[in-house]
Amino acid sequence: MSRSLLDVPAVRDYLGRRLLCSIKTEQKILALTFDDGPNPRHTPQLLSLLASKGIHATFFAVGKRVRRFPEILKATHEAGHEVGNHGDHHVALSLLPPALLRREITRCGEAIEQTIGEKPRFLRPPMGWINGFVLKTVRELGYEPVIGSIHPRDSRRPGREAIIERVQSRVEPGAVIILHDGGWWLGVDRSQTLEAVDVLTDQCLEAGYRFLTLSALSAAGDRW
Ligand SMILES: [Zn+2]
Repeated sequence: MSRSLLDVPAVRDYLGRRLLCSIKTEQKILALTFDDGPNPRHTPQLLSLLASKGIHATFFAVGKRVRRFPEILKATHEAGHEVGNHGDHHVALSLLPPALLRREITRCGEAIEQTIGEKPRFLRPPMGWINGFVLKTVRELGYEPVIGSIHPRDSRRPGREAIIERVQSRVEPGAVIILHDGGWWLGVDRSQTLEAVDVLTDQCLEAGYRFLTLSALSAAGDRW
């Protein structure tokens, strides 16, 4: 099995005490999450795919992309998906001085709120870069910090089969799956992710799992 940092028990334990990683539950429920959009090519494709299966997911949007593609975020929200804050420019929050850190968080939140009429509940720090000060600031600004529990590193495009295998080998009740509908540049190719999501969702639904938004998932049990 190809491991990610989230597979190391001590890392998972450390993070789980500080951010939402997954939920303790015996129900067969999962959250699918997508980062780095809205993306003009892949987000609409994903919305159609998820709609065809009746699945709701959570999209962690980047502020500058929200300002450029507000209609895509609006469509995401109107389709019943949850929207989260992923920073205004997708920079490592733990490297920023306090004023810039606050600005990265609040400006993305404002862009989302102006577009869909709601302030997001969750924030996922770009690339998972955190420290105690970042987490304190995220909470002071009214957000719940989130990472997830399954990180198949689809953004590196390891191939559809690798993404499927990395997720399937880790699926368990209450898991939060981290995937990407966007990337550093707008022309990024996320077709592997889209193809993997198509297969994975069918496999999980057949195995009796249901997909919930992060808010719905976190209401269903305690955090790890
Ligand atoms: Zn990201």
